[in-house]
Amino acid sequence: MLGFKKSPWIIHYDASSCNGCDIETLACLTPLYDAERLGVINTGNPKHADIFLVTGAVNEQSRQVIQNIYHQLPEPKVVVAVGACAASGGIFQDCYNIAGGVDTVIPVDVYVPGCAARPEAIIDGILKAVEVLEDKHRRITAMANSIDQTIIVRATPEDVAEILALQKIAYQSEAEIYGDDSVPALQQSLAELKEDFQRMVFLKAVVNGKIIGAVRGYSEGETAHILRLIVHPYFQGRGIGSRLVREIEAVWPPSVRRFEAFTGHRSKRNLTLYGRLGYRPFKEVPYNSAVTWVYMEKLRHEN
Ligand code: SF4
Repeated sequence: MLGFKKSPWIIHYDASSCNGCDIETLACLTPLYDAERLGVINTGNPKHADIFLVTGAVNEQSRQVIQNIYHQLPEPKVVVAVGACAASGGIFQDCYNIAGGVDTVIPVDVYVPGCAARPEAIIDGILKAVEVLEDKHRRITAMANSIDQTIIVRATPEDVAEILALQKIAYQSEAEIYGDDSVPALQQSLAELKEDFQRMVFLKAVVNGKIIGAVRGYSEGETAHILRLIVHPYFQGRGIGSRLVREIEAVWPPSVRRFEAFTGHRSKRNLTLYGRLGYRPFKEVPYNSAVTWVYMEKLRHEN
C-alpha cells in the first residue's frame, strides 16, 4: 500500500512545453541524475502512476487530455507542475490560445520553479510530492477508519464542484468495464451539474468533512427517479451506497409510490446493490454499441 514511499511511479505529460522542461525532466531519468536510484519509475499508464508531472502551459488542445489523465490516476494522487509555464503559463501566458497554468484545470500540489526547471529541482519536487502523497494517504486511511461516523445530509450549492470531482473518480470503473469513457457521468460539466442541482434533490455522504458519496433524484407524479449513485472507490463495499439510496427514497412523501433507477448492463456491483434493496429490472434501452441501460423499479412498500 505504501509502495510509493520507496518507489513513486510518475506519468509525465507535455501540455504545450517549448521542450525545455521536457528535456530536463527526461534528464532526471538518465544516469547523470538517475532518479531511479530513488525508486522513481516513469510509466506510460496513468492507472499505474502516483504522481502526475506536467510541463508546459494549458492550451485548448491539452486541457481535456490533462483532465482525462488526472481522473485516471488512482487515489491518492499528486500533481507536480514543472516549470514557469506549468505554474502560470510562463512566457506564453498572454498568447491567444493559452488558458494559463495547470491549476486552471486540475488541482496542483507541488510547483517546481524555473525556465527551464533544473533536474535537481524536478527531483526535489518529486520528493516533495511523495511527502504530499503520504499525507493524503494518511488522511484517507483516517477517513476509512471513521467510516461508521459517516453522515448523510442534503448537499448545498457549495458542494457541486466536490461532487463533480467525486463523480469523475467513481465512474472511472464504469469506463473500464465498458472500455468507453463517453458515459454521460464522465462527460458532465460543472455548468450541467449546477443545472441538475436546481431541479433535483442531492444527498451527500460525509466523513471527516469530506464528501465520499452522493446520490440525486427527482420526482414525476407517483415516481421518483434515482440517479448517479456514487461512492469513492476507497469506501465502496462499506454500505454507504445502500444508505444513500434508502435515505433518498425517504425524501419523498407517501404520494410517491414507485422508485426507478438505471445502470449499465455489465455494472454488476450496481445491479447487485439495487437488487438487494428490492429493485427489479423492467426494461433495457441500448445507449450505444457498448452500453445498454437496465431500468429497475421498486414499489414503495417493497423494502
Ligand atoms: S518554463 Fe521555460 S523551458 Fe519550461 S516549457 Fe516554459 S518556456 Fe519552456
